[in-house]
Amino acid sequence: MQLRRYRAKFQSIDHLFISHLHGDHFFGLPGLISSMHLLGRKQDLNIYCPAGFKEILEVINKNSDTRRTYKINWHFTDNEPMRLLFEDQKVQVYSFPLQHRIFCTGFLFKEKTLPRKIDKYKLEQLNISFADILNLKAGNDVVNKDGELIKNKDATLDPAPSRSYAYCSDTIYDPDIVKYVEGADLLYHESTFLNDHLERAKKTFHSTAFQAAQIASAANVKQLLLGHYSARYTQLDGFVAEAQAAFANALLAIDGKKIKI
Ligand SMILES: [Zn+2]
Ligand SMILES: [Zn+2]
Repeated sequence: MQLRRYRAKFQSIDHLFISHLHGDHFFGLPGLISSMHLLGRKQDLNIYCPAGFKEILEVINKNSDTRRTYKINWHFTDNEPMRLLFEDQKVQVYSFPLQHRIFCTGFLFKEKTLPRKIDKYKLEQLNISFADILNLKAGNDVVNKDGELIKNKDATLDPAPSRSYAYCSDTIYDPDIVKYVEGADLLYHESTFLNDHLERAKKTFHSTAFQAAQIASAANVKQLLLGHYSARYTQLDGFVAEAQAAFANALLAIDGKKIKI
């Protein structure tokens, strides 16, 4: 429903990453998976999740006699530190363990090093073939049409730094997370409570806004995104204020908000 509301094209989603099997993290999925089927989806869907979700979906399919128009590729998460789940030419996705009441993982999305940028002003003077432009982008030296050696550094510029996004929900305050999310451009970290419910946070394996900020600060991330607020808080201003005591660049995750990394 939220994907529709914010006009996100959900048929173009090919990979779903599910941290754990508490209802607030996956009850929407059988509906989404079914909508994809009803709209005649053809391409495969990849789901990265705890193994139990496959069982749940199979029970639903069996009882509703559903034969989907597309295939699901299952990739089960485990407790391994930094498990590579997915990789293509542009990005790698890893899972890492979180400490919650049931089995739960976080995810790290890492952009690969971008190709070198061609210096267009230099290119005109260097007399290089089209094939060698690709060679330069890959970081190689080339020989131009006049037989001269062109050093890579003389024709290219450093690419923009590659970006990363770390997702940690749900979890108790756990300094072990720091090593997995070190230096991330954006860290989403749950903050179910404020420090006024520190004991409750511990007991339910959740974190406070201040604790999320402590992780962000220790991991030296660039930006902290708070979320997963307990329904007991009707105002969210306190979350940013509390987090900023430990980490200045903190903001609230709100449905529909877009964040540029
Ligand atoms: Zn949970
Ligand atoms: Zn939750």
